[in-house]
Amino acid sequence: MGEYKKSLKAIEHKKPKVARFMKHNVPKDRKNGLGNAVCRRCGKKGMGVISKYGLNYCRRCFREQAKTLGFKKYS
Ligand SMILES: [Zn+2]
Repeated sequence: MGEYKKSLKAIEHKKPKVARFMKHNVPKDRKNGLGNAVCRRCGKKGMGVISKYGLNYCRRCFREQAKTLGFKKYS
């Protein structure tokens, strides 16, 4: 959950304040970038999600799944 929702709850009964908050403080819906990267196994968002080769696993799930995916450690 986004942190901004907490602040929004504190002012939810003050309509003009909510309108101003929605205009200036709510984060944008983004089409690309880290915020949209989601792990398909555990649902983790953002940093540490590997999208290279269409993997879409987070680093933790990748470590656990790498062998079954056919990755091999050389060192
Ligand atoms: Zn994961």
